[in-house]
Amino acid sequence: MINYVAPVAKLIEEFSKLPGIGRKTAQRLAFYILNSKEEEAVSLAEAIINAKRKTKYCSICLNITDIDPCRICTSHKRDKSMICVVEDPRDVAAMERTREYNGLYHVLHGAISPMEGIGPEDIKIKELLLRLQNDDIKEVILATNPTIEGEATSMYISKLVKPMGIKVTRIAHGIPVGGDLEYADEVTLSKALEGRREL
Ligand SMILES: [Zn+2]
Repeated sequence: MINYVAPVAKLIEEFSKLPGIGRKTAQRLAFYILNSKEEEAVSLAEAIINAKRKTKYCSICLNITDIDPCRICTSHKRDKSMICVVEDPRDVAAMERTREYNGLYHVLHGAISPMEGIGPEDIKIKELLLRLQNDDIKEVILATNPTIEGEATSMYISKLVKPMGIKVTRIAHGIPVGGDLEYADEVTLSKALEGRREL
C-alpha cells in the first residue's frame, strides 16, 4: 500500500473488502478504473450508490424492491393464496426464472443457525406469521436451502404454521444437499417445486 498514492491505495482497500476479492484482484480492478474513461468510472460509482439508495425491502414480502409494495405483491396476475418462503432475495430471482411459480413470496433474510447464534427472532419469521393471520393464505411452500440450517428453519416454521390450519409443503430434493437454491438450474428447481410434499 505504501507504494501507492493515497487515492489509489484507498480504492484498492475498498475493492479488497468485497467478497472473494483478494489483494491482487483489488489492485487489478483499481488500475482498470484508473485506466478507464472518466464517464465509465462515474457510471460504476453511480450504479453502486443508486443500487443502495433506490432499493428497500418490500413492506409485505421483504424482497428487495424499488417500489413498495413490490411488483409481485401488487400484481393481479399472482395467486395470492400461496406464499413461497425463501432465505434470500436471490432465491426469489431463482424461483422466478423457473416461470413455474405464480404465488407470492416471503424472504426470511437468513436461516436459523444455533452454531452462528442465529435464532428464530433474528430472521423474518414473525413477519410471516403476521401475514398468515391477516391474509387468506391456503398454502405455505418452504423453499429454504437443503442445508442443516435450511431444514431446521423449515421444521420450525412448519410447527408454527400447521396449527393455523394452513397447508405446509417442502420443496423436493432435486437440489443437491448443502447446495444453494440460487445456484440450482431452472429445471431442477421446477422439479423440486413440482415434487413438493406436505409436512
Ligand atoms: Zn413484496
